[in-house]
Amino acid sequence: MNVWLILSITLLYLTLLFVVAFIAERKQFLPEKWSPFIYALSIGVYCTAWTFYGSIGRATVFGPDFLSIYVGPILLMPLCWGFYRKIIKISKVQKITSIADFISSRYGKNISVGALVAFVCIIGVIPYISLQIKAIADSFDLLSAASNDAYNANIVQSWKPLLVTLVLGFFIILFGTSKMDASEKHAGLVNAIAFESIVKLIAFIIGGLFIVFFVLDKFTTEQIRNAPQLQHLFVFNSDGGYMRWIGMTLLSFTAFIFLPRQFQLGVIENRDDQHLKTAIWVFPTYLIIINLLVIPVAIAGILFYNNQPYNPDYTLLSLPQSMGANWISLIVFLGGFSAATGMIIVEIIALSTMLSNNIIIPIILSYGKLKSSFFKHVLKSIKWIRRFSILFLLSLSYLYFEYISGKYSLVSIGLISFTAVAQFAPSVIFGIYWKRASKAASIISISVGIAIWFFTLIVPTLVSAGLLQDSILNDGLWGIHWLKPAHLFGADIADPITHAFFWSILINLLSFVSVSLFFEPNSEESTQAELFVDIDQYSNTYEQSFIRTGNVSILDLRNLMSSFIGEKKSRQLFRQYFLRNQLVIPDDAQKADQGVITYAEKILSGVIGAASSRIILQSMMKDEVIRMNDVVDLLKESQQILQLNKELSSKSAELSKAYEALSKANTKLKQIDQLKDEFLYTVTHELRTPLTSVRAFTEIMHDHPDMDEQKRLEFLKVMVYELERLSKLITQVLDLEKLESGKQQLHLSPILPISLLNRVVGSFNTGLEEEFKLTIHNEVEKEVMLDEDLMERVLVNLLGNAKKYIPSENGKISIYIENDESFLSIAVEDNGPGIPIEQRSQVFNKFYQVVQSKKNNAGGSGLGLSICKKIIDLHKGNISVEQSTLGGAKFIIQIPMK
Ligand code: ADP
Repeated sequence: MNVWLILSITLLYLTLLFVVAFIAERKQFLPEKWSPFIYALSIGVYCTAWTFYGSIGRATVFGPDFLSIYVGPILLMPLCWGFYRKIIKISKVQKITSIADFISSRYGKNISVGALVAFVCIIGVIPYISLQIKAIADSFDLLSAASNDAYNANIVQSWKPLLVTLVLGFFIILFGTSKMDASEKHAGLVNAIAFESIVKLIAFIIGGLFIVFFVLDKFTTEQIRNAPQLQHLFVFNSDGGYMRWIGMTLLSFTAFIFLPRQFQLGVIENRDDQHLKTAIWVFPTYLIIINLLVIPVAIAGILFYNNQPYNPDYTLLSLPQSMGANWISLIVFLGGFSAATGMIIVEIIALSTMLSNNIIIPIILSYGKLKSSFFKHVLKSIKWIRRFSILFLLSLSYLYFEYISGKYSLVSIGLISFTAVAQFAPSVIFGIYWKRASKAASIISISVGIAIWFFTLIVPTLVSAGLLQDSILNDGLWGIHWLKPAHLFGADIADPITHAFFWSILINLLSFVSVSLFFEPNSEESTQAELFVDIDQYSNTYEQSFIRTGNVSILDLRNLMSSFIGEKKSRQLFRQYFLRNQLVIPDDAQKADQGVITYAEKILSGVIGAASSRIILQSMMKDEVIRMNDVVDLLKESQQILQLNKELSSKSAELSKAYEALSKANTKLKQIDQLKDEFLYTVTHELRTPLTSVRAFTEIMHDHPDMDEQKRLEFLKVMVYELERLSKLITQVLDLEKLESGKQQLHLSPILPISLLNRVVGSFNTGLEEEFKLTIHNEVEKEVMLDEDLMERVLVNLLGNAKKYIPSENGKISIYIENDESFLSIAVEDNGPGIPIEQRSQVFNKFYQVVQSKKNNAGGSGLGLSICKKIIDLHKGNISVEQSTLGGAKFIIQIPMK
């Protein structure tokens, strides 16, 4: 088939995939009831090119043995779904972004654990990815081979796989980095992968049925039953026996859970754990269907090629081609291509999240210089780190394909990856059921396991590649005979994978348990252990269940979040937090309590992983955390408390919530009490001044009955003035009390603002000649619903103030009455001294008098404006003050028109 035709169809297919993802990312185009199926199909990413092509190859050589890697998921998925659900639940609550994040989170959000897991995933899985590139390259070459004889053992190295890899890189960058929050769901990705699962299944069935009907049909049942070269196809247990079957079942089960791509789609992308109920039957059914035709196709291949050399891995592709059915081959090719690309895309996204969150970002955060430039452009930096990780991992896979994986068959490399990720099993399984499981145990057991993996599975490949001497295989490491890679401790397990899996897991397990018993978990680990093991208790009260405090203000915390997820979103999330927990939204300057800190940490970990976000928050409030830890460590010395720990921590969550509420109520009460004291004090103080002076004058007049008339009149005038002031003050205090207690009722009636104003102005002019210029601008001819008496009081007050403060010559007062659709506004401006900007917000407080202007304010009490404000508040309006263009103060009242 023409190379260009295949290439264009391949690119067309990728474009289609892209479109599916693009649409699904923006809106849900299938009804919600399909979601569980999409989820189940997306887990079908388990079937890679290895299933698609390699199963037939393996069946051809070893018989039903190829099934062993499906038995694990098929059997154990329904049996262990509670376990799987727990992992999903924990990941949701903790905003986990990858398997590395999960394990590091469990063990005290430790960086080393996360980095170790990420590293193991990368070295374990890169060969597996390269295998997919190899499958693409091989199938491409087969399909484009000119002759009908499709057997082509040598891979024709060319630019085509590189081109496909590059296009994939582009695709992955688009979808893997479009969202900052790596724990968020990628609907586009999930739908695209589900789509690929359907494509590969249909393609396999079409190819398989074609072969059954057009190739196998040529042979009689007798021929098939008696052909000697087919006998092994009908016998279970080739070599390795039941030991191999048990090993493979366990191995494939662990791989099914821990392979980065499975963890990504099965756990991180799970929207609803109820979807699992569908997945536990849909997914096994899928596996069974895709494997049904494997044996018939293998039989057809063996009979058809009858002792001619051919590559059994690609029977499904080459048989139709040999029969001249090129279009069938093309469909098969697309199926294989979808199997391979699905795996590459998800695996690279998952690995790149780990590489950036668990390796690169922690390194950056621990170097001052890098750290500061990282914080300058957080969003950009994270994006570029992710992109770099994707390209780096893809290049690594490509190079591995170019130089190494050409030599192996499809299945063997896949199983090597399975064995690598199986090393996480003890850390995860004990981690979610056993509180005693410790960080040290996790680090040591994974390291030991992966070392054995390397020694038993990788060293032999290095020997055959000529990089190591083969004496190590025959005589053992350093000549020690029980250190032979294929026969560790003298064991005689024929199958290298079973052998490696057995020893690595056994020693991994033993070291995990013994180290856990030996090293006690520290306080951070215990907290996380508590949260993981008892997830059902904590899933709702996660933020409250921490014992930690720090000296960070709400503002600091929010600014930090803003640099990661943007200002708007962080404000929104904070609001949500307070609303959800029914808390009063605190002041920016207020100290953040443990709940908010934990909440912020959780959001951050969605972006950069648990360990990195812990470092960042810890460096924000270093001292406190250490002190708190010390305290907790001290407490833990007492055995009793260890036992009570569980009850205690849930009780303490309740208690601290109650305490918070109480202390809030208490502060409020105290504030009110203090306000009352202050008020009483000021009132009595204010009352005493005029009273004292009246009393002094009365005494003088009493003691001097012979006082001359003129003086007495003068005294009486002062006394009348002081008494007026006294009664004004008392009226004001009573008014204020009425307004504040809520006893004051509004009596609204339709009023034309200008007539109200004219009346007020009139009352100011009585008899006195004007020594200032008053201008009124009125634009409002409508009546507005107002309480006439109260509003009159406001205007009298504002005008009175203005008049009091304007200069005695050239005084100017302007009044503006305007309205728009929603508000009536009245502004009173003067050319007095104005109010200094920093005091503007306070002039409406009770008894507040502006310091600077006190001298012209002999008779003032500081209550006028606060009464005005109360009245305007009653009208649901607003009063404020600013600088007037006349030079003095400008008071603006706004009242809703309706
Ligand atoms: P008072 O009875 O003392 O005037 P108010 O509550 O009416 O009390 O005003 C509070 C303070 O605001 C006053 O002490 C005065 O210093 C300042 N103030 C009010 N109006 C004006 C104005 N038009 N120009 C300058 N200062 C003003």
